[in-house]
Amino acid sequence: MPTDSLTLDRPLDMHLHLREKEMLGLVGPLSAAHFAGAVVMPNLVRPVDSLADLLAYREQVAAATSGHVFMPFMTLFFRDYSDEELAAARPHLLGIKLYPAGATTNSEAGVKAIDAAESTIRRMEEQGIPLLVHGETHGFVMDRESEFLAIYRHLAETFPKLRITMEHITTAGAVALLDAFENLFATVTLQHLLITLDDVAGGLLNPHLFCKPIAKRPEDRAALLAAALGAHPKLMFGSDSAPHPRSRKECCGCAAGVFTAPIALPVLAELFEKHHGLENLQAFVSDNARAIYGVDPPAKSITLSRQPMKIPESYGGTVVPMFAGEEIGWSVRSD
Ligand SMILES: [Zn+2]
Repeated sequence: MPTDSLTLDRPLDMHLHLREKEMLGLVGPLSAAHFAGAVVMPNLVRPVDSLADLLAYREQVAAATSGHVFMPFMTLFFRDYSDEELAAARPHLLGIKLYPAGATTNSEAGVKAIDAAESTIRRMEEQGIPLLVHGETHGFVMDRESEFLAIYRHLAETFPKLRITMEHITTAGAVALLDAFENLFATVTLQHLLITLDDVAGGLLNPHLFCKPIAKRPEDRAALLAAALGAHPKLMFGSDSAPHPRSRKECCGCAAGVFTAPIALPVLAELFEKHHGLENLQAFVSDNARAIYGVDPPAKSITLSRQPMKIPESYGGTVVPMFAGEEIGWSVRSD
């Protein structure tokens, strides 16, 4: 017998870009309407890399999402931090996000670039601060994550007590790595459960599906989907929802990022139902993350129902979501 509705307890988005100013004002409430909390990425135009910046940004997020039950879990942008800086920031953050600019195609060289970061990473391990990683080398675009897996292995072995989250994984190899190291965890986006490179560039180019890491092969998608549907306890939902104005997407030099925050939960319900995994959606969008990070989001429940919804062509007239204009089978019940 089909389920007509599903109530999620404290759904969380464990990787979210909220931006600043007008864009934050537009997209912040959309996330806050559906999620009890989200991990807010620190890559603003001027990265969030001090406690003062983090607290100021949290204020902006709180102001933009006021009126909703919504807890922003803040992150710092990785740089060298002293013990004192880490100790002061620790109560206010979920983790520190590393974008390894020095990593190259050669994984040895990549590990060497990571070496420069190791004193801070060791301090994080000692203080129990999780490390969140954008794991791509500068190699061939389809191979960047696969090449980075050697660096994840190196980090997991060198810092066995460090909690490491492989952000927005896109490959079967990354899924396999979850089971190889106790201290490795991962987020996966909505789009990487649904699309492959064919959807982005196999026919006419679809800039609204262009993101980094780029969508991969069908077998990669299958591995990600199987892990999500099976509620793999080390895999969390993180939308990586990344809004850009239409003018930055529908242009030459299209910015990377897919905007999914306001459609993520109903699309996930439809996807999980289609694959007979609806009973595992709660773990994927909340329970796993709560267990992994020990976070305690505020009480909030979101009911999804099997009521068709047409995805808007845009939000605020400028941000185009994934599947704009299409109809999906589920929606968030507003009551
Ligand atoms: Zn991201």
